[in-house]
Amino acid sequence: LPIPTVRLNDGQEIPQLGFGVFQVDPGETERIVTDALEVGYRHIDTAAIYGNEAEVGRAIAESGIARDELYVTTKLWNTDQGDAHAAFEASLERLGLDRVDLYLIHWPQPMFGEALGAWRGLVEILGSGRASSIGVSNFEIEHLQQLLDETGVVPAVNQIELHPLHQRRELVEFCREHGIAVEAWGPLGQGKSDLLDRPELSDVAAAHGKTPAQAVLRWHLQQGRIVFPKTTHRARMLENADVFGFELDDAQMAAIDGLEEGRRLGPDPRTFDVR
Ligand code: NAD
Repeated sequence: LPIPTVRLNDGQEIPQLGFGVFQVDPGETERIVTDALEVGYRHIDTAAIYGNEAEVGRAIAESGIARDELYVTTKLWNTDQGDAHAAFEASLERLGLDRVDLYLIHWPQPMFGEALGAWRGLVEILGSGRASSIGVSNFEIEHLQQLLDETGVVPAVNQIELHPLHQRRELVEFCREHGIAVEAWGPLGQGKSDLLDRPELSDVAAAHGKTPAQAVLRWHLQQGRIVFPKTTHRARMLENADVFGFELDDAQMAAIDGLEEGRRLGPDPRTFDVR
């Protein structure tokens, strides 16, 4: 699969399309990630809280694919913000890797005031070479601003809920101004919204002989975003990766832009405090 890369603000390159394993059952993860790697995905997005790092690691080890051809992201869970080093070591151990490509703070949890300390830990981990890039997830403008003000270290990415029903234009613009790459989670509306049934989307998709999911992924990619749609089905893995041979025109991009509803499907990062 010829998957383009995006250059991050630290000079590293990340494959623009990856494969996410949120809510992928640990008992199925090795098989599913093996399928994804066979299909041609080389970028896997997991997290300590997903409970499937070990199975992701096994699929990677069994694949025989060279480590430097793979891109692996994991995330620091909320309860571990007080000791990022220990949590990171545990993630590496479970993954069976001596390095990840990207390590993220999963949620800002502003009510606990620990994210800044955690970020300083990630900066040290970056310095040790065991994470090639570091970033954050679910950070709003005020959380990013505080990191920048207090530490001066700009995250390489911010991984946020972003899809046509919830486009986060101000936050995306803030990230652009600061050179922070945007990773869109829930890029397809998580399968629990009616996004993929919208006629506006079907029209755009039909014009290219593509599916609504492919049209949405194309809409993300043309805006320079990084996406890692999740599916457990091999046919959909192929479908979701077949998004580089066509181009939406301005009117088609605008039609999808028009689906904005300010509709969050996940938790609000300002109040999410699940420990
Ligand atoms: P998604 O938007 O990728 O939706 C996945 C769902 O869409 C599937 O379960 C399936 O129901 C449906 N789907 C997938 N491919 C399809 C297709 N071709 N046609 C029709 N339906 C299809 O949602 P997600 O899994 O929540 O997000 C992707 C990844 O983002 C996750 O796996 C995870 O890696 C990451 N994520 C991160 C956070 C965070 O807090 N940082 C939160 C949620 C997800």
